[in-house]
Amino acid sequence: MAEMLAPEAELHEAMRRLRADGVRRLGERVQDLATLWEALSHRPWDAAVRAGVADLANAAHQLAGAGGTFGLPALSAAAAPLELILRGLSESLAPDSERLPQAEQLVAALGAAWEAGSTLPVAAEPAIAMPQAETGEPVLLCTPAAGQAELHALLTSLGYTVRGIGHEAPPDGPLIAAVIDDALPDFLAVCRGLAGRCPLILLAEDTSFPARLAAARAGVEALVPKPLESNELADWLDQFAGVRAESHTSILIVDDDPLLAETYAMALRQAGMQATALSEPGRTLEAITATAPDLIVMDLQMPGIDGIELARVIRQTRRHLSLPVLFLSAERDATRQLLARRLGGDDFIPKPVDLSRLVTLVRLRAERARALRAVMETDSLTGLLNHARFKERLGLEIERSRRDGSALSLVLLDLDHFKQINDRHGHLMGDRVIRSLARSLQKRLRRTDVIGRYGGEEFAILLLGTGPEAAQKVIDQIRTRFSALAFDTEQSRFSVTFSAGIAGREEGAKAEAMISAADAALYAAKRAGRNCTRLA
Ligand code: GH3
Ligand code: MG
Ligand code: MG
Repeated sequence: MAEMLAPEAELHEAMRRLRADGVRRLGERVQDLATLWEALSHRPWDAAVRAGVADLANAAHQLAGAGGTFGLPALSAAAAPLELILRGLSESLAPDSERLPQAEQLVAALGAAWEAGSTLPVAAEPAIAMPQAETGEPVLLCTPAAGQAELHALLTSLGYTVRGIGHEAPPDGPLIAAVIDDALPDFLAVCRGLAGRCPLILLAEDTSFPARLAAARAGVEALVPKPLESNELADWLDQFAGVRAESHTSILIVDDDPLLAETYAMALRQAGMQATALSEPGRTLEAITATAPDLIVMDLQMPGIDGIELARVIRQTRRHLSLPVLFLSAERDATRQLLARRLGGDDFIPKPVDLSRLVTLVRLRAERARALRAVMETDSLTGLLNHARFKERLGLEIERSRRDGSALSLVLLDLDHFKQINDRHGHLMGDRVIRSLARSLQKRLRRTDVIGRYGGEEFAILLLGTGPEAAQKVIDQIRTRFSALAFDTEQSRFSVTFSAGIAGREEGAKAEAMISAADAALYAAKRAGRNCTRLA
């Protein structure tokens, strides 16, 4: 059996193998090019030879693009001028006494560059932050025995895993934060001991300026006043667990060279993004539907189809109008670069691309695209899909589940007596409750499930691959946990419940029919006394 490696080491090893394999395959290409050149250069100059030289120019183009990626910049440096010279030669009707010896020299230089570069150890990729585990991110709890159980329960209900209580020996392994209570006699020393290891959240009785300053000096990043407001603690924890957002980032890579496409994908995956490599440009539209990318990385020059043309095809669909494309290419033609840039929100990076640089560029652009899309498509209070987007997804998912025969459930969920919450505790508090429910849903449901804010205090959820009975179990679990969550105000502490109606996908049913079935079930749940779920 293969030796087990830590995920980071495993990815690093995979990158190393990929690069070593790439270097070897580039060597084969260099060898092929040299052999062909040798054969052609001894033949009388005719149309067939010129066609052969044009093929060699294409091969040199690919080498120029790939060399830098596999740590062989000298190879790219020799291949780029070789491509130009071969192109010129392929267009000349008579043997070109000036270009022929230049080409000869550059072909030799190509071989030498590969020899020199391939014997060097492949440079190690700088460590890139690994994505955290998907659920139950570990939090360290340092509090006195009194009140500990309550905090433990709160953190668990927010979807975190409590790692080791007490501070004597903090556990090994990753921590997204440490929650420290200032009721511990030596809490500042505890903070100093943990500072740098993970972000520190101090639960503070004393919120005076000197106390805050002392905490800051001990390395405390977040100070949450007591009595504890569970939402505020949750917001901080969610922020520190922020890698969640990035692990949702989806990138589609389209490059006709499978070796390059997969290499780029590996580099992006190592940085915690979801990356899909596609080397058949004709399947781009399918791949977009399947992976819902935030950004597309696309080779500008591919056989049969041009990247700019492909971007035009993508943009024929309204939903993809704002999908950014990052063109990668060894293209030197300034006019075409300009054209690529003009195609709306797009950008261009020259090949060869250094992998670390690719990760940085893609991350920046994908984040910007996501932020923009978040504003357009999601509800600002909760970050969930807005009503229109949710209904669009509902239509798509019904179609999809019909095609592949998978189960699908729709849940409509409504907070109970919410008007009273607003009346008693104020609209702001009401907003907090809504956000808190949104967060519970995001934490407890699967990533692939679709969550929308359907109306004011009404949510809609699509559970993919899940039948109504299974969906009811899941929602009931969330309901029990949510109703146990305490909300604090200056004067009181209260909790909130919700009711839900659940409908499965009936054969041949349309979106509207599914919505009314779930709505009727929700109404039944309300009539049955609220704080319960009902099946359609
Ligand atoms: P029921 O259990 O039957 O659902 O009772 P309810 O009070 O929740 O139902 P109703 O539909 O009568 O009232 C919903 C309330 O939700 C009224 C509205 O003020 C409040 N609401 C809707 N959207 C928001 C929001 O974004 N923020 C806050 N704070 N309140 C909202
Ligand atoms: Mg309600
Ligand atoms: Mg309502």
